[in-house]
Amino acid sequence: MKSTVTSSSLAERDHAVVWHPYTQMQTAPLPIPIVRGEGSWLYAEDGTAYLDGISSWWVNLHGHAHPHIAARVSEQLRTLEHVLFAGFTHPAAVELAEQLLAILPANQVRVFYSDNGSTAVEVALKMVLQYFHNQGQPERRTFLCFQNSYHGDTFGAMAVSSRGAFTQPFWPLLFDVEFLDVPTPGHEAQALAQLDALLQRPDVAGFIFEPLVLGTAGMVMYEPDILSEMLRRCHQHGVLAIADEVMTGFGRTGPLFASELLTEQPDIMCFSKGLTGGTLAMGLTTCAAPIYAAFLSQDKMRALFHGHSYTANPVACAAALASLELTRAELCTQQRQRLEAAHAGFRQEIDGQPGVRAVRHRGTILAVEYDPGEGTSYFSRLRDAFYQLALDHHVVLRPLGNVVYLLPPYCTTDEELNLLYTVLRRMREL
Ligand code: PLP
Repeated sequence: MKSTVTSSSLAERDHAVVWHPYTQMQTAPLPIPIVRGEGSWLYAEDGTAYLDGISSWWVNLHGHAHPHIAARVSEQLRTLEHVLFAGFTHPAAVELAEQLLAILPANQVRVFYSDNGSTAVEVALKMVLQYFHNQGQPERRTFLCFQNSYHGDTFGAMAVSSRGAFTQPFWPLLFDVEFLDVPTPGHEAQALAQLDALLQRPDVAGFIFEPLVLGTAGMVMYEPDILSEMLRRCHQHGVLAIADEVMTGFGRTGPLFASELLTEQPDIMCFSKGLTGGTLAMGLTTCAAPIYAAFLSQDKMRALFHGHSYTANPVACAAALASLELTRAELCTQQRQRLEAAHAGFRQEIDGQPGVRAVRHRGTILAVEYDPGEGTSYFSRLRDAFYQLALDHHVVLRPLGNVVYLLPPYCTTDEELNLLYTVLRRMREL
């Protein structure tokens, strides 16, 4: 693949010592050295500005290097940078947990901190398994998940994710799960029938899902009503529901959390990405009262034995508090509404155009599926061509095969959105 960027000393130094994720290091072009960010823009070492159309792996909410988050982080760094979180606590962790529980679905009562989206999922899976273990039902250990789902790259998270090419070397070590069809419009009855059959089994413990939008699957979207019905049926059989809101959380789908649109609430929720506004790595898992209660005992062995060195890092908590403040401000609501309206308008324009197979839109996320349908393979020719076309326009996108999506920072202006839409229009010609 050709790169628009000439090699720089920083890129060459990187190439000599760094191993990048999801990257064939032998053939990939040199990475683009980014030295600064501001608003929706990333600035390269050679001065080129790139418009960030995907919030840098779906994490950034309020723009790069946001001064409010920077100030709060800096203050926290100078006050308390870290303290172990077993036997100790600190103001930012308590305040963040209080604030989050106040805005999450009412059944969520506890916050368990970790480091990223994958660990938030690992914690959720362990909560479910140990919940049943502590209740004397260790035979309940099978998870249900959606076909093509993605919940992270650690072993538990891989196990409950699609058996795709990326995880093939590890398949023999991934525990068995049961995959359900995604109940996209027209496929609801099939998904419900599959679920009903699986719920007859006594070993089913939990159902993990990306609510309303399966991100890595290609921004595959489905409706709240059918998910609510699936959760209702899970609950009738004592099966716990885990909402992985790592991507959908903090306003991406319109409301603050996709789960707000459900009439049946998940038992456990996972968050990361937008949690700190895209500034510092942090994940967290929340749970409902009965789950927490199952871990309470005079017996120390019934505790949840999970933790990381940086669990509830004060600096990350401070970043999350600052980001949450921005997210809850009226300006952010207006920004998200503006993005949603602009996406809806562009959807109307491009839907049905030659070369466009489907357009999907929810909240601030817009996805265009182009012809020919080569699936969402990371390795497809089209994918590389789309990626390059965006770069040629100084736009950062990361197509999923023949699906190109926009997931911009909320501060993205109308003018910047127009540049993103221009690139999507041009992609029809590839
Ligand atoms: N869950 C979902 C829905 C995701 O989209 C991702 C990452 O893309 C993860 C979990 C894993 O998060 P992380 O990359 O922070 O480990």
